[in-house]
Amino acid sequence: MERDDSAAVACFYAETTLETGATVSLNERVAHHATVRRIETGDRVAISNGMGSISRGRVLRLGKREMQVSIDRVERVAPPFAVHLFAPIADRDRMLWAAEKATELGIASWQSVRFRRSASVSPRGEGAAFGEKLRARIIAALEQSFGAWLPQVLPDTSPDDLEPASGLKLVLDARGEPMIDLVSASDSSCAVIVGPEGGIEEDELARLVASGWRPASLGSSILRFETAVTAAVAVVRAVHASQPAFGASPVASDCLFCRIVSHEIPAKLVLENEHVVAFRDINPQAPVHVVIVPRQHVASLNEARDAAMLGELSLAAAQIAKAEGIGESGYRTVVNTNRDAGQTVFHIHLHLIGGRDMAWPPG
Ligand code: AMP
Ligand code: ZN
Repeated sequence: MERDDSAAVACFYAETTLETGATVSLNERVAHHATVRRIETGDRVAISNGMGSISRGRVLRLGKREMQVSIDRVERVAPPFAVHLFAPIADRDRMLWAAEKATELGIASWQSVRFRRSASVSPRGEGAAFGEKLRARIIAALEQSFGAWLPQVLPDTSPDDLEPASGLKLVLDARGEPMIDLVSASDSSCAVIVGPEGGIEEDELARLVASGWRPASLGSSILRFETAVTAAVAVVRAVHASQPAFGASPVASDCLFCRIVSHEIPAKLVLENEHVVAFRDINPQAPVHVVIVPRQHVASLNEARDAAMLGELSLAAAQIAKAEGIGESGYRTVVNTNRDAGQTVFHIHLHLIGGRDMAWPPG
């Protein structure tokens, strides 16, 4: 395969796993976007799958409905430290602007929050249709910045319905402690709430503080919410800029899957996030056979204590199944435990198997 290191002229997002040597066909959205960007046959482009993989190659064909690219290089990018952003439902255009800047800086998720003062804004960015707009803007920002990790857009919520996040939980408030003093390189993740124009009302703030959110200040000047979003994400990024993506997690040096997690042993990686690593099985039992493992070493289901981790394995399976195009046709997830089930690697893993008919009961 010819390899060409000249820089890509543009980056496109496509929710697909790409491999070196493959020719991929990208959809109408990308073809349209490429035409607008005046991309031509022969140009070098990059494709981000939003799940940590950036593929590079040359345009073979560009039509109205599709763009074909032959991939000659695939690069895996470790996920950045996870910042979960809770932004206020507010003026539409300013929300879109904030989402764009936050994506450039790097966030893991965006969720719009309906504060009491959100209701007085018009036109405000809320509901499913606006969520799609927001996602489109986030994708455009990812492409613009050649980002490898697409932030998740979660459905609108209210301040009283925020999921109990783990890691550092901050709510921006000018009277809080300086944010820079609260963020630490040893945090596992960071969730930040930014209030609406006019501020979070006292009782709303009090309830957030009561459920573990710590007031954090960006200084005494009054910032518009989109400025606060950008500044807050930048502060977290600054603290974590020189840190590896993950803090120390228990690993076993003689464990095959721990060594794949740490990239010490190569594998065909399909997904990496803060919780799990997924790679193609070396001895596939079906057209799609992916092994999904937690970053932390747990020998088998018998030793598992962390319900969230077990949930992350399943959610990753559904995400990969969708990306592999077998979400609708169907697939099976299996955890083998100990001798009778034929467990051979003692680092818990979920097999994702699909792409063919499967018998029931299994053998
Ligand atoms: P189990 O039998 O449930 O313990 O599954 C272990 C799986 O890991 C088997 O399906 C193996 O084919 C797979 N496997 C073993 N070594 C590797 C490797 N280096 N890369 C990818 N998959 C592997
Ligand atoms: Zn292990």
